[in-house]
Amino acid sequence: GPAARCARLVKIYPSATGETHALRGIEATFPAGALTAVTGPSGSGKSSLLSVLALRERQSGGELWIGPRAVSALGARALRDLRRRDVASVAQRPTHSLFDHLTALEQVEQSARLRGADLADCRTLLDRLGLANRLRARNRELSGGEQQRLAVAAAVIGVPGLIVADEPTAELDDESSQLVLEELRRCASLGAAVVFATHDHRGVVAADRELHLRYGVVSTESDAGGPATASIDSTGRL
Ligand code: ADP
Ligand code: ADP
Repeated sequence: GPAARCARLVKIYPSATGETHALRGIEATFPAGALTAVTGPSGSGKSSLLSVLALRERQSGGELWIGPRAVSALGARALRDLRRRDVASVAQRPTHSLFDHLTALEQVEQSARLRGADLADCRTLLDRLGLANRLRARNRELSGGEQQRLAVAAAVIGVPGLIVADEPTAELDDESSQLVLEELRRCASLGAAVVFATHDHRGVVAADRELHLRYGVVSTESDAGGPATASIDSTGRL
């Protein structure tokens, strides 16, 4: 099956006035080898979907499969292992996922160790993301855009099967955005399912598919601007 799949996925948040139904029955598949852009107006559920998909939050109803595993059936320990090894997550404000006491290189190496990835790949990854001269910098010495690219590096090292990023280029200039999108494309070409939310036309153009949300459901699913999907492994294995 696909790297990830949602059926009738529901997310409800408690609110002052009762409940907010952020996701009202999402039907979607996220194939291995493809970049899926999640779009939609503010409040349509993009962040909620990515948060559940990245295993940062549990769904309120419906089902999510990561590879062959139904997430609702997993205990805390199995979820943690899945999160550590197979699912990468870049939050909308990635600063919180970075460690102040580590250098840029050490952060990516720590992530590589957790995932059993080759430590020798960390430098080349940071180099591709334009951070070759920032290897020894700590968080407070990095600009917002540098922190964003570092968070992407820490997430994608070792190329986990599912990579989820909430507006990974929102705070970046054109050149840095391009580096991030190229890295996500590279991960997809190595077999990852990549899912990212975007407001940005360039983000949609860089993707293979667009999933457009409205009021917590998928309103349209279409081909986007990326390369033809013929080269994608249609078995979509994680
Ligand atoms: P969300 O839909 O994720 O809740 P919003 O639409 O509320 O996001 O946008 C949050 C803020 O981020 C707004 O000020 C918006 O203009 C800004 N923003 C969103 N996407 C981008 C982007 N790609 N580039 C620059 N600013 C963006
Ligand atoms: P988008 O990313 O498209 O802007 P969100 O998923 O952030 O959409 O929001 C969908 C709905 O869920 C909104 O009404 C929002 O206010 C609500 N929501 C999102 N996250 C939370 C949360 N942590 N607690 C309460 N309500 C939330």
